[in-house]
Amino acid sequence: MEKRCIYCGQPITKKPAAVWLKREKEEVQCCSMDCCNKTSRFIKWDNASRLKAYVIIGICAAVNLINIGLSMKGWWTHIPLVIIGICLCKWPLVFMHFHNYERFGIWKTLKYVRFAAGALIVFGAVITVWDMSFL
Ligand SMILES: [Zn+2]
Repeated sequence: MEKRCIYCGQPITKKPAAVWLKREKEEVQCCSMDCCNKTSRFIKWDNASRLKAYVIIGICAAVNLINIGLSMKGWWTHIPLVIIGICLCKWPLVFMHFHNYERFGIWKTLKYVRFAAGALIVFGAVITVWDMSFL
């Protein structure tokens, strides 16, 4: 199988540069030193922000479920959805194992997740505005 760069997704032609993932106890391969540096910077940042993201998203998901469970009606009931979207924009890979972004490369995966998160924000905002005017 062709090896691809974990960061940019290009096939690796030269001798690969490897980044060791401490948390995963695995190494990933990059096409160049540049991608290698970006990957290790990204992994460090990702590890540092993961817990924060889990906590905020966890709280929002819980609030959302409680709202649904108690069938609360209010213009604010979909605000947690928007906050989750914002969190995913800021920390897009919190729910993904790095094997999932191996296929496209980190850079493209970030773009895809941010796009989906953007859609979630718009969706949540639209319902909120809708509820504000009709409830
Ligand atoms: Zn690369």
